[in-house]
Amino acid sequence: MKTRTSTAVVIGCGIGGPVAAMALQQVGIDAVVYEGHERPADFVGSFLNVASNGLDGLRALGADREVLASGFPTPRMVMWSGTGKRLGEVANGLTLEDGTTSITIPRGLLHRALRDEALRRGIHIENGKRLLSAESGPSGVVAHFEDGTSARGDVLVGADGLHSRTRQLLDPAAPRARYSGMLSLGGVAHGTGLAPTPDTFHMMFGKRLFFSHSVRPSGETFWFANLPWESESSRAELSSVASREWKQRLLALVADDKGPAREILEHTRETLAAFPVHDLPTVPVWYRGAMVLLGDAAHATSPSAGQGASLAIEDALVLAKCLRDLGEPARAFAAYEQERRPRVERVVRYSARISSSKTAGPVARWFRDLLMPFALKHFASPEAHAWLYRYHVDLGVSLGGPSLA
Ligand SMILES: Cc1cc2nc3c(=O)[nH]c(=O)nc-3n(C[C@H](O)[C@H](O)[C@H](O)COP(=O)(O)OP(=O)(O)OC[C@H]3O[C@@H](n4cnc5c(N)ncnc54)[C@H](O)[C@@H]3O)c2cc1C
Repeated sequence: MKTRTSTAVVIGCGIGGPVAAMALQQVGIDAVVYEGHERPADFVGSFLNVASNGLDGLRALGADREVLASGFPTPRMVMWSGTGKRLGEVANGLTLEDGTTSITIPRGLLHRALRDEALRRGIHIENGKRLLSAESGPSGVVAHFEDGTSARGDVLVGADGLHSRTRQLLDPAAPRARYSGMLSLGGVAHGTGLAPTPDTFHMMFGKRLFFSHSVRPSGETFWFANLPWESESSRAELSSVASREWKQRLLALVADDKGPAREILEHTRETLAAFPVHDLPTVPVWYRGAMVLLGDAAHATSPSAGQGASLAIEDALVLAKCLRDLGEPARAFAAYEQERRPRVERVVRYSARISSSKTAGPVARWFRDLLMPFALKHFASPEAHAWLYRYHVDLGVSLGGPSLA
């Protein structure tokens, strides 16, 4: 096994992949990113929260500027019941020293910003390279792709997402993603006439679905809904349902709720796509030989905590630091897992609890609406969520050692 890592094959150019390549480059490891899609894998019509801890991670790489410019600040969440009762509010992340807060950003723009930043730094990204198999030996890894080509590196970083092929290769008995019983749909409405809700997402725990929205000063209304969906359906099955039909279903599900959901849905003209919501609580094997997992491939969290992207960014930084400071992949990967596993598994549990409150039955709903105002008062303090948002990786400091600056 090599004692120093100089080259890496990174599988996947979603969020963790390009960030890992930039972090590795920063510590002197040349990485090439191999993405399965022929063209950049941007999901249309969907957006996500990049929490302050994720932005802090991008900042450590100097890669936050374009991301911040493509999103808008959403540091505050106000909770409502479907009966129109204001349940309370909670901070979405912390405010960084220069005033930066968590943002909402269209997924396509986040992917593009990270990809462009990686390319600007001279990182090579190859599309149409779907990982099929890999051999790990004492002199590194050879990755084989579906198109018959191969790539070699000292290490292979599997940033290939929820249904990771790398995870299967590391451990054929690895768990599959766990279905939450819930779908997620989102979009942007125009011309609702609703007043802007600066910096705020309004979240409504409705009778039959969870609905969240934020109105920008321009009038654009970003919204998403989570609805119970008993049997697990693939993305392809869900995409066979026409947009018009999704809209009718959503309108029927919000019919008994107070709030602007109905208006927002009626003013949404774009194509609607539904995503099944999954998570992945514990993946026993994170690394083997010279191969290691990162991001959703190792630990997917349901979207409820808004943390999946931020955790992938944090992973990338910690992995790069471990490889720089410990050299030999086996030692570096063990230190990386030891640092990351407790945190990411805690976030997955936390997010799963939020998800289950979104699809509560009538009795649980009654208790939730009664108790949530007390719980939210507690969570209103930034300290209550400090464990989640106050996570900083300083690449300038070596593991357990002095500053490298
Ligand atoms: C509906 C929904 C809403 C979400 N909302 C949020 C949110 O608000 N905030 C948040 O932080 N997170 C959110 N998430 C989660 C977030 O999207 C993920 O946690 C994040 O994308 C993980 O990044 P990743 O790089 O690990 O994986 P991905 O972003 O999934 O990237 C994996 C990449 O690997 C590629 N790939 C897959 N297999 C192969 C292969 N065999 N060979 C080569 N390439 C391959 C894929 O094409 C993809 O480009 C949401 C997820 C969903 C489904």
